[in-house]
Amino acid sequence: MSNKILQKILIIEDDPGILNYLKTTVSAAGYDTITATDGNLALHMITSHCPDCILLDLGLPDMDGSDIITSVRKWTLTPIIVISARNSDEDKAAALDSGADDYITKPFSSIELLARIRTALRHSLTASGNKEIGIDGCYHVGELEIDYKKLRVCVRGEDVHLTPNEFRIVALLGKHPGRVLTYKSMLRELWGPSAPMDNKILRVHMASIRRKIEDDPTNPRYIFTEVGVGYRIAENTQETDD
Ligand code: CA
Repeated sequence: MSNKILQKILIIEDDPGILNYLKTTVSAAGYDTITATDGNLALHMITSHCPDCILLDLGLPDMDGSDIITSVRKWTLTPIIVISARNSDEDKAAALDSGADDYITKPFSSIELLARIRTALRHSLTASGNKEIGIDGCYHVGELEIDYKKLRVCVRGEDVHLTPNEFRIVALLGKHPGRVLTYKSMLRELWGPSAPMDNKILRVHMASIRRKIEDDPTNPRYIFTEVGVGYRIAENTQETDD
């Protein structure tokens, strides 16, 4: 038996079948799991058990999952992954905007679920240090390099000549690898709270960015569209110790 302290995952889900599946999957991957089947119990467990990560179903019997996010975010940055049966993009975007870290739509594979959990846990460990950006001031993924000192993006060592706005978009995504940034949060971050909430401007810039950085812009490797929700930049999953 290992002496390592297990990371604790709180699963909030009222459907017994899905709860059982989640609990089995997460436990088998070596995490300690605790569960709650309604919102009030969930809030109690978050304060009393301090989980390392929360899996949250949005449709709970006594409250809406988004109320849990809002409430939890008043006092902790514990990563929250929304498990959504809702197909509405507005619901996903609202969950992310209210402070969820990620979402996953039912049905999903256990591989996908565990990958999202690992990403969420890694970010919670590095959130303050922004370890994603190396001491050279660059974020690397595959053959893409975002240089935060020289304010340029290179592919295979060649400057791809982004416009200033294009650079700002890529630079913002590069600070949150593997995470969905909603259109709304990006527009607000890039052009301020009074910016018009028009996703079209992002889509136009993104089309141009993809022509410059992707070998096949219709099948991107680096920046993915989460349809109706936002964008996600690929995560550098290589373990580097140097
Ligand atoms: Ca439910």
